[in-house]
Amino acid sequence: MTKMQEYMQKGEDYILKTYNRYPVVFEKGDGVCLYDMDGKRYLDFAAGIAVFALGYNNKTYNDALKEQIDKILHTSNLYYNQPAIDAAEKIVKTSKMSKVFFTNSGTEAIEGALKVARKYAYLKDPSKDYEFIAMNHSFHGRSQGALSVTGNAHYQDGFVPVEMRAVFADFNDLDDVKSKITDKTCGIICEVVQGEGGIYPAKKEFLEGLRKLCDEKDILLIFDEVQCGMGRCGSLYAHDLYGVKPDVMALAKALGCGVPVGAFVTNEKASHALVPGDHGTTYGGNPFATAAVCEVFRQFEERDIVSHVNEVGAYLYEKLEEVNNQFAQIKAHRGVGLMQGLEFEKPVGDIIVTALKKGLVIISAGANIIRFVPPLVIEKKDVDEMIAILTETLKENGIQ
Ligand SMILES: *Cc1c(COP(=O)(O)O)cnc(C)c1O
Repeated sequence: MTKMQEYMQKGEDYILKTYNRYPVVFEKGDGVCLYDMDGKRYLDFAAGIAVFALGYNNKTYNDALKEQIDKILHTSNLYYNQPAIDAAEKIVKTSKMSKVFFTNSGTEAIEGALKVARKYAYLKDPSKDYEFIAMNHSFHGRSQGALSVTGNAHYQDGFVPVEMRAVFADFNDLDDVKSKITDKTCGIICEVVQGEGGIYPAKKEFLEGLRKLCDEKDILLIFDEVQCGMGRCGSLYAHDLYGVKPDVMALAKALGCGVPVGAFVTNEKASHALVPGDHGTTYGGNPFATAAVCEVFRQFEERDIVSHVNEVGAYLYEKLEEVNNQFAQIKAHRGVGLMQGLEFEKPVGDIIVTALKKGLVIISAGANIIRFVPPLVIEKKDVDEMIAILTETLKENGIQ
């Protein structure tokens, strides 16, 4: 047994088995490549599930964090801290929204967003038993609250009834949403581009319609941009592509580029719903996590990451379209920017394992879809390398 194999075994011995892990221990990263414990190189088109946008071993990012470590890591939210205030200012100014609450994860950002909508409705009429409208095939996280609006039986089975009531409508079907609105509805939540559900971008008319509905009913519209936000879709926030503003937006994944941090962001109207005592967190927004957020925004601006995503994203689209045309068994190619997917007729697990053996890291979204969410700093040559390995992999797996 190699040292790496020993570690995988030890992982099975000690870590609760809620994942079927791929057989690799990544030890370090550099740029858009990962290296396992045996020193083998992998081209990374997963970015730790759409997290590590700026590439691995990024010197200025590492230095910014080291500097913050030497100052202070944590103070609690009983006091003000500089990095959190600077990071919140960045988010507010770039999103043209109003206030930010920092969390430790995407799930917690969703929890907070749901509480905002419930409280907003409660303040108007405390007597009702409120519920949300959420979308089929959505994914919003694993806590009881976030799970309650996750429209996928795979995640909910065994945990129902969940805490908050939600009714589910079909994504991109405005009439379906309309038919499910009642006087108990306190909010509508959706991803702007569905991630785990299989890389489905929203239609413009759909988001516009949701906005109009929420305005008419005076209920809050929540956009989950945990995965599709932070430049991934070719604009800093995915909803900017559509010109439709949410009342509350959830962020995480690439927000800290590896340091666990999320946020929910409220517009002016929604920012009054929660008052002191309504919500809190010990770690959330601590100086370490928010120093990472500040550095992420600094690099996004300095390197004009969003323009880069547009350029490389278009190239990736073109190349994946060629792959799509080459194999009859690929059913569809979807996505925007550096969030794209190829849908197959059957589960893609074996393809992903073969790709891994060949030094390419890709992941699935749902059983039948390969998802491409690389670091946002990939170059065209990386796309070419990925396409070459992918094509070989598909042939080897008997895909025609
Ligand atoms: C990953 C994800 C979440 C949950 O974030 P965690 O950090 O895993 O808690 C929520 N919504 C979407 C759209 C996601 O992709």
